[in-house]
Amino acid sequence: MPSLPKNPSAPQRPAASRGRHTVHMPHVLPMSRREMDRLGWREIDVLLVSGDAYVDHPSFGAALLGRWLVLHGYRVGIVAQPRWTSTRDLLVMGRPRLMAGVTAGALDSMLAHYTAFRKKRHDDAYTPGGLAGARPNRACLVYAGIVKQAFPKLPIVLGGIEASLRRITHYDFWTDKLRRSILVDAKSDMLLYGMAERGILAAAHRLRDGLALGDPSVPGAAYIGNPDDLPPAKKVIELPSHEDIQADPAKLMTATLAMEEHVHHASACSIHRVEGRSLILTPPQPLTAEELDRLHALPFTREPHPFYEGKKIPAADMIRFSINSHRGCGGGCSFCTLAVHQGRTIRSRGAASILDEAESLARHPRFKGSISDVGGPTANMWGGLCGDDPARCRRASCLFPDICPHFVVDQMRLIELLHKVRAVDGVKHVRVASGIRHDLALKDVGYIRAMVRDFVGGQLKIAPEHLSDEVLRLMRKPGLKVFERFLDLFEEECAAAGKRQFVIPYLISAFPACTRRHMEQLARWLARRGWRPEQIQCFIPLPGTLAAAMYHAGIDPSGKPIPVARTDADRLRMHHTLLGGKRKGKPRR
Ligand code: SF4
Repeated sequence: MPSLPKNPSAPQRPAASRGRHTVHMPHVLPMSRREMDRLGWREIDVLLVSGDAYVDHPSFGAALLGRWLVLHGYRVGIVAQPRWTSTRDLLVMGRPRLMAGVTAGALDSMLAHYTAFRKKRHDDAYTPGGLAGARPNRACLVYAGIVKQAFPKLPIVLGGIEASLRRITHYDFWTDKLRRSILVDAKSDMLLYGMAERGILAAAHRLRDGLALGDPSVPGAAYIGNPDDLPPAKKVIELPSHEDIQADPAKLMTATLAMEEHVHHASACSIHRVEGRSLILTPPQPLTAEELDRLHALPFTREPHPFYEGKKIPAADMIRFSINSHRGCGGGCSFCTLAVHQGRTIRSRGAASILDEAESLARHPRFKGSISDVGGPTANMWGGLCGDDPARCRRASCLFPDICPHFVVDQMRLIELLHKVRAVDGVKHVRVASGIRHDLALKDVGYIRAMVRDFVGGQLKIAPEHLSDEVLRLMRKPGLKVFERFLDLFEEECAAAGKRQFVIPYLISAFPACTRRHMEQLARWLARRGWRPEQIQCFIPLPGTLAAAMYHAGIDPSGKPIPVARTDADRLRMHHTLLGGKRKGKPRR
């Protein structure tokens, strides 16, 4: 294990405990040689290259993985949003000893750059000043290319959502084409999908020990290897090959369903052949609750790196005083990237760890008393778990078509926790800004009552996504009646509490199988309630999702043909069904 060189002149640094050892954690991770010198680091072990600005907050992947690696004894530097026309920005801290980790950032770079109608966006919440243009299209490929030029033969590991979603052959909406695995296109050594703390650590350990990266012992990884070298696993999933998918669009559906299963079954390896090579995908291995607590206890400043000299980064302002309570979502919605990224297994932080974080927020010099969110992918799934053996599970969702009898979640425990967070000295308000699953909320009227009274803050985000049961079935979302029951209860509870509060419904237009008739049905329902839809997203088939497979193949998961609005003109027409005339609202892009 490499040790951090001692430097008596280095500034005071918070110490983080790793077992019996104490690791000196830098105030922020270095972005320059001068900062390395101050830390007494002659070289770094790992360079993280990110398409986002470096904000030292646990919601930013580079900060999270960087500090995690430092906790385990590695020296990490960050190059954020480098210019990609030369290698200059990459060279500022010298050649890293072990490897470079490359990520496009918190969003797929194509999604970050283009709207649902393939128009260029002008803003980017992850960039200083909120301006677009600080990262290239297909950032993973471009960054991997310049890392290769800057540091020939340095091992490169891809990670983050762009790499994760594009780990096997996938549909790319922006070019309307199938693309092969991004690992192959980037000519990199390994790809880590999902949240990657275990994977990046295993990769660093292997390189430190002089071993090759591609190995089945690295969890949540994809690499080119020899399937004969795999240890006897309980199960190996053979995915359709790149060539199979190219020849038959329906095979993309088969591959995506198998990927969802792969993420869910902790022991399975998958193999995906591409142009005569075997891409091996190892099973994910999420952090335990204790590890998650340890990760969140690291001394994040929650601020952009001083390099930005106080320039505003919109995403940093939005999430500075939010608390992430858990990972994973049991919903398995077909359009959502979570199903193949974090998966359905929920990993929750302990209540004590969340309270510790609330206390540390209250001590933050800029804290004014409001915690903007305590949530995760779905706020009311904190503490949710499978009461059976998930490895035997054949369902694609823990909540659809009905809530699985084995899905256990105590929402009143969450309310108890929120009350405790609110009781922390210095905290005046606690809000739940993450969306909640309304079908789950209906299981516990006490939860809705407490939310309405204490934690909604005027607006509650709910994502019915559509109101036609035919479309909802393909989205894996609960039906209209469930949503209406929730609205009735919400309104009753608001009236009883004497509060005027609103549900903000998130809706998707032009989803596969959604026709003009379905959109008009939705528009009529909204008109009956006198709602002006504010949050409407025209469907974007995101790489790796089941919905993208439906869009590409024109079939539902059972193989039945479905109508798909494919041209931008058709999609726009459908979108405008909700926005036309007097009901004009602001579309979600
Ligand atoms: S058995 Fe039920 S709760 Fe468990 S993973 Fe499967 S669907 Fe989810």
